[in-house]
Amino acid sequence: MSSAIAPRGRAAATFAASLKLENVTRRYGEAAALDCVDLAVAPGEIVCLLGPSGCGKTTLLRVISGIERPTSGVVLINDREVAGPNRFEPPENRSVGLMFQDFALFPHLTVIENVAFGLKSLPSADRNTAARAILDRVGLAAFVDAYPSTLSGGQQQRVALARAIVPRPAVMLMDEPFSGLDVQLRDTMQEETLSLLRETRATSVIVTHHPEEAMRLSDRIAVLRAGRIVQVGTTLDLFRDPASLFVARLFSEINEIPARVAGGRIDTAAGAFAAPGLAEGAAAVLCVRERAVTLTPMANGASKSMSASGGQMMGRVLDLKFLGDVTRLDVAVEGFDQPLRVRSAGRDGLRRGSEVSVSIDRASVLVFPLDAPASLDVHARDDG
Ligand code: ATP
Repeated sequence: MSSAIAPRGRAAATFAASLKLENVTRRYGEAAALDCVDLAVAPGEIVCLLGPSGCGKTTLLRVISGIERPTSGVVLINDREVAGPNRFEPPENRSVGLMFQDFALFPHLTVIENVAFGLKSLPSADRNTAARAILDRVGLAAFVDAYPSTLSGGQQQRVALARAIVPRPAVMLMDEPFSGLDVQLRDTMQEETLSLLRETRATSVIVTHHPEEAMRLSDRIAVLRAGRIVQVGTTLDLFRDPASLFVARLFSEINEIPARVAGGRIDTAAGAFAAPGLAEGAAAVLCVRERAVTLTPMANGASKSMSASGGQMMGRVLDLKFLGDVTRLDVAVEGFDQPLRVRSAGRDGLRRGSEVSVSIDRASVLVFPLDAPASLDVHARDDG
C-alpha cells in the first residue's frame, strides 16, 4: 500500500469485503449478550444494528472487530475465518476500522498526527500525504495542526471518521457515531459520513438506537432484541411487513388496540381483520398506523348514522397539536374504547370538539400476538 493517496476532493476506495456471522453467541457468566446471531453483509453494503439499550449491539460490534471473543460461533471477513472454535485473529489483523461514540481522539496529538496514527506501516512522507488528503476531503485542511480539545463536536467527529477510514479498512464499524452531536449537526454529519462511506465503498456496520438514523444511513437494518436478531431487511421491508409488534413500534407510530381472536379474525368497529397464525381466543394487538387514519370534517346536519360497513365511523376531536408538517390529533371514535391517535398532513379546519368521519386504510392494519408493553423497550421510537 505505497500510494494510499486520494485524488484531491475524493477519498480512496477500499477493496470491499464481505462479512459473515454464523451462530455467534457471547455469554457473560450465565447471561447471553448475543444469542445465536447470524448476519451476512455484502461487500460495500451499509447495515445498521438497531435495538434498545442493552440488546447487544456494542457486543456484536466488538466481536466483529476482535476486541471481544465470541463464546461460540464463527466470524468471517471475505470468507476468511477471523474468529471461530480454533481461530482468533486480533483486531490489527482483520482490516477493520473502528469509530466510537466519544470519538476517542488522542488529546496530546494534533489532528494530522491523530489521523496518521493508523498508517504506521507507511513511510512517514506517505503517511502525512494520505492524512492530509483525507483531512482535505472532510473539510479540515485548515486544522491539521490543531489539538482535538480546540475543535467543535462536528470537527472532532470528522477527525475520528478520517482516522478510521484512512487505512482503507475492509470493514468499517461505527458505534453510535452521531450520538454526541446536537440534532442539526447530526443531520449534516450523517450525510457527510454516508457520502464518504459510499465513496470508499467500505462494508459498514453502524450501531444506533434511533430508527430514523438507521433508515437514513443503511442499505439494510438488523433489528436486535435481547441478544437476538429478530428481523433484517430494507427500511421498506421493515416498515411494510414488520415480523413482530416490537419491530412495528420502531418504524411507525401506531395505535395498539387490544383484541381477542374469534373465528380466526378480530372484529372491530372498523370491520373484521384476519389473524393468521393466532390461536382461537388468543390475546392480540390490532395495530392501526397513526397516518393511516383519515378524518373528514362532518358538514353541519350530515347523517350521524354511519357504520363500519361503509368503512367510516363517527368521531370527535378531543385534542390536536400542530407540529409543523403534521397535526397530531386524539379522536374519540364510535366503537373504540380508547381514543385513536392520528397524524394528518393538513389541519382541514379541524378544532377541538369537531365532529369527523373516520376511515382507516385497512391494507395497512397489522395484527400481532400480544407482546411486552413498549415501555419495557427503552429507546423504542423516540421522536415524539
Ligand atoms: P447500549 O445501547 O446501551 O450501548 P447495547 O445494545 O450496545 O446497549 P451491550 O453493551 O452490547 O448492549 O450489552 C449487552 C448486554 O451484555 C448487557 O446486558 C450488558 O450489561 C452485558 N455486558 C456487556 N459487556 C459486558 C461485560 N464486559 N461483562 C458483563 N456483562 C456485559
